Amino acid sequence: MADSTNNTLRAIPAMDALLDSSWASRFFDCLGRETVKNIIREALDRLKRDICAGAQLNLPIEKETAIRAEELLMTRMSSTLKPVVNATGIVIHTNLGRAPLSDSAINAAAAISGVYSTLEYSPESGGRGGRNAHVEWLIRLLTGAEAALVVNNNAAAVLLALSATAAGREVIVSAGELVEIGGSFRIPEILEFSGAKMITVGCTNSTRISDYSGAITENTAVLLKVHPSNYKIEGFVKSASREELCGLASSRRLVFMEDLGSGLLVKLDLPFTNHENSVKECLKDGGADGGIVTFSGDKLLGGPQIGVIAGSKQLIKKMKEHQLARALRVDKITLAAFEATLRLYFTGRYKDIPVIKMITLDKKDLHEKALVLCRILKDAAARNNTGDLDISIVETSDAVGGGAYPTDALPGFGVALRSASISAEALAAKLRTAQTPVVPGIRDGSVVLHVRTLITGDELLIASALTACN
Ligand SMILES: *Cc1c(COP(=O)(O)O)cnc(C)c1O
Repeated sequence: MADSTNNTLRAIPAMDALLDSSWASRFFDCLGRETVKNIIREALDRLKRDICAGAQLNLPIEKETAIRAEELLMTRMSSTLKPVVNATGIVIHTNLGRAPLSDSAINAAAAISGVYSTLEYSPESGGRGGRNAHVEWLIRLLTGAEAALVVNNNAAAVLLALSATAAGREVIVSAGELVEIGGSFRIPEILEFSGAKMITVGCTNSTRISDYSGAITENTAVLLKVHPSNYKIEGFVKSASREELCGLASSRRLVFMEDLGSGLLVKLDLPFTNHENSVKECLKDGGADGGIVTFSGDKLLGGPQIGVIAGSKQLIKKMKEHQLARALRVDKITLAAFEATLRLYFTGRYKDIPVIKMITLDKKDLHEKALVLCRILKDAAARNNTGDLDISIVETSDAVGGGAYPTDALPGFGVALRSASISAEALAAKLRTAQTPVVPGIRDGSVVLHVRTLITGDELLIASALTACN
């Protein structure tokens, strides 16, 4: 190690001296001395690592140490899971927590979280009730399924469905449907984990029903179809239809299973959903003879993170009794929010669901929202002397997101920010590190704030993030 590095390391103040300083002792009341010490030690370890890695310090080592330790203490005092403003125009943004909940889902979750409840209790009998029963009847009603089961998420739904129907046996899937979603959900890996053996048929862009029938052996249990959520193959594409697969499965006494990904509960009057079947239609085509579908609760459905398995009563019964079901079960807060979300569909008020509202906003509404944001930002900029900032309304290309409809852009509006003195990347970084982070898009050297995904009050948060940029 170089002498200078050694000297710098030796000059780091001792722990006792750091603990004696006023910036450290003001955290004692709230955290206790021992915890403050642990956090300072963590800051020192990071600093030493940086020095050993050759980082150049701008300040004298004593000052640098104090600033870093105090910063880490402050960071530890506030929660890192906090609200952000989604100004990306991507409605179902997995990194930003997917679907924001409707008011009725939020209220239902809040009402159930601080009290005891009927989660697994039947007041009529005074005995045990089923947690799944609170939502099963609603899912059956909304999808036409014979039975339904909810679990942690759609990945869990696929895992449980395959484990209960195909462990130790073969599952036939098209090579064109071996999708990876969000970098962590891979059909081949889930299949392996479930104990099933994957048999792929066809090519990436072409799989015929005869490819499936030719691959069936006495050990085949399931024909699996996967929604190609986050990609679209253009050009010559041939895949077996749901009807063909269902017919083949029932004639050979196999299970037909379909991972729908997002799962549309109602047909929305939008161009990109015209070629998309609702869950009910998928089940009617494919589920009549012992079929199963799975889908997410927090994508287009607009509820909390959950996975739904719906379809054949006899198969769902096997899944309910499977050991994995216990490990994948849903918590009461999630269940309350999900029931309330389903009730909005039940009573025809699904337009109150934020993701549905955002996706169905028309250009006139969006232009109106952009005008409001533009005025607020111009006022704030004028009051705070933000100098050379150019603020204007632009047309945008928004997206459903969440791996749904990758090629169907939603035309929208936004407010573009452009400055002669700071790059779009640097301005975006400043917005992201505001007290309430603002996550914008960037296009052609401008920061673009897409208005489609803004929630009431976000306009003011953006204005304060912008003026804090000075
Ligand atoms: C999103 C998606 C999943 C994963 O769903 P989670 O609810 O995130 O677990 C699985 N399959 C498809 C086709 C998807 O689109």
